Amino acid sequence: MSKKVLILPGDGIGPEITAQAVKVLNRLKEEGALDIEMQEGLVGGAAYDETGSPLPEETMAAAREADAILLGAVGGPQYDSLPRDKRPEKGLLGLRSGLELFANLRPAMLYPQLAHASSLKPEVVSGLDILIVRELTGGIYFGQPRGIRTLDNGEREGFNTYVYSESEIRRIAHVAFQAAQKRNNKVTSIDKSNVLEVTELWKEVVTEVAKEYPDVELEHMLVDNAAMQLVRWPKQFDVMLTGNMFGDILSDEASMLTGSIGMLPSASLNSENKGMYEPSHGSAPDIAGQDIANPLATILSAAMMLRYSLGAPELADRIEQAVSKVLDQGLRTADIWTEGTEKVSCSAMGDAVVAAL
Ligand code: NAD
Repeated sequence: MSKKVLILPGDGIGPEITAQAVKVLNRLKEEGALDIEMQEGLVGGAAYDETGSPLPEETMAAAREADAILLGAVGGPQYDSLPRDKRPEKGLLGLRSGLELFANLRPAMLYPQLAHASSLKPEVVSGLDILIVRELTGGIYFGQPRGIRTLDNGEREGFNTYVYSESEIRRIAHVAFQAAQKRNNKVTSIDKSNVLEVTELWKEVVTEVAKEYPDVELEHMLVDNAAMQLVRWPKQFDVMLTGNMFGDILSDEASMLTGSIGMLPSASLNSENKGMYEPSHGSAPDIAGQDIANPLATILSAAMMLRYSLGAPELADRIEQAVSKVLDQGLRTADIWTEGTEKVSCSAMGDAVVAAL
């Protein structure tokens, strides 16, 4: 039976970049290599403009029905003054929490052809391939109680609660170990167990889960050391397993090692491997509608969708190889262009990937 994929272009450059990923998926469909049905929906500012809600009921229903979702990006300055519950980001957060997408997978991968784009020396980052597995729906960002209160002496105090249950730790740890089995069989679990009890439990539970994956090497690292090691010698990492807050910070640090935000895909998965796939960047309103955005992060997000939700890892490999091939051919969108390479538009880059398939 064919699988259902919901395409949510969203705002800004969203429609331009998702159109390129859809071209690539259509090419695989035409070949008979891929059996999917694609349906388009509204989310973010585009949905607000049309329906008054950034996440219309119809979109949520289609998202629940789908096996996977491919999203462009949401947001734009014209929506910044709306009440919080009408803002485009609310659509994204509603999808993440409504579908219980607790596992965020963010690869930081540097194609050797783009090594000069990093702020680190080429020999430090060339061939870099890290996967950060971040817990997305728990930890200090969601823990209760939280707030700002006034003490008896009149001084104000802000407080949050850093909490993880064993089951929350266990399910994200399984995601990390299973991802490592599809890669280089190593998990580095990040904690601050010398100071925080919650991460002492994190470390204990991850160690227990590791016993079920004897083929995967587990190491534990304190978060401050991990931040340092990421810029010192990032190629020592395969899969980094983190809680919500540490992952938020480390994944941005890792993504900048690659120097080009237009290249980085991401996935957010639930316990049945249903997932939402999107580029790591935003809606880039400054370049929207000009056909100059880099569509490769979105095309690579479609590859992750094939690997993690649609059970077609060989097609994911083919897309990733096609991307590498167009880079070998010297084709670059404006954001990654350098002297001696050929500057191409967003749609021409999409066509080139299709041709390279
Ligand atoms: P951004 O990622 O949209 O843009 C940052 C810079 O990177 C801009 O100069 C932009 O032109 C460039 N850029 C981003 N993606 C690119 C691509 N594919 N090709 C070429 N250049 C690219 O971040 P921002 O400017 O801080 O935010 C813009 C809007 O996006 C805001 O409304 C923000 O809330 C929203 N946003 C959405 C998401 C999401 O949908 N997941 C994530 C981050 C920001």
